[in-house]
Amino acid sequence: LGRHRDDRRQSGFNYNGVEFSQSNLNIFAGLCAVDVPEHVDMMMQALEDHGEVCTRMGAYKPRTNPYSFQGHGKGCLPWVFEKAGKHGIKVIAMEITHESHIEEIDNCLEKLGRPTGVMLQVGTRNTQNFELLKAIGRQSTYPVLLKRGFGITLNESLNAAEYLASEGNANVIFCLRGMKTEAGQPHRNMVDFAHVPAVKRLTRMPVCVDPSHSVGSREQSPDGILDVMHATAQGVVAGANMVLVDFHPKPERALVDGPQALLMNELPAYLEDIRLCHDTW
Ligand code: PEP
Repeated sequence: LGRHRDDRRQSGFNYNGVEFSQSNLNIFAGLCAVDVPEHVDMMMQALEDHGEVCTRMGAYKPRTNPYSFQGHGKGCLPWVFEKAGKHGIKVIAMEITHESHIEEIDNCLEKLGRPTGVMLQVGTRNTQNFELLKAIGRQSTYPVLLKRGFGITLNESLNAAEYLASEGNANVIFCLRGMKTEAGQPHRNMVDFAHVPAVKRLTRMPVCVDPSHSVGSREQSPDGILDVMHATAQGVVAGANMVLVDFHPKPERALVDGPQALLMNELPAYLEDIRLCHDTW
């Protein structure tokens, strides 16, 4: 994946009819965690209404607290995938936390006749889970979204990406999602989107930004602009090729990270502003 490692490696790829490269932009708005069919349907309907074909949907959730909701797991896959097919969603970014989840996803998609596609997401807590990375790297059916580790160096996270490629899967997108700081204020994480051009310079990977998990709240500036919106714009202006962002029809009823979710009525302006940022820079 690194430019210095092998000049013959291609930048970008096509998956399920969607182009991922270092020059275009794909927006993955969706639910941090799948909860009830009604919310998934509302989210996907809104995306379809705006011509979006990608989303994020968490089924397997890595939680800090073992007593917190851990995600519906494989139980929700059939209806999430069916709804995605119904709404023309071509790619779902879905985190996995164990290699057995690859088979669960694959079996379910196969059984349903592959109504949609899945991008396997590796979360920040698993960036250096080398056995998981190797297992994901050994399969070439699904592309991978690798999150930067929130407490390790950039170079260590880029080496984690190389684990995927060295096992055979070079369809990798690298995601900046903020770094832990001692104070943890005012944002949940230190927004690190100034590193977008650095990653693009150092590697051939398309770069994603996750403004929701970086900012971690619905705080807004005195002029009424949400910090999540500001952060997204910073990432896109810096050259991001993908945005992973939390929306929810009823954030107060979300089972994970409701306080950072944007509202459905904010979706049209969000999409328009972000596309404008990308097109004009
Ligand atoms: C997520 O995107 O749902 C998530 C848990 O992100 P991160 O791994 O960056 O914390």
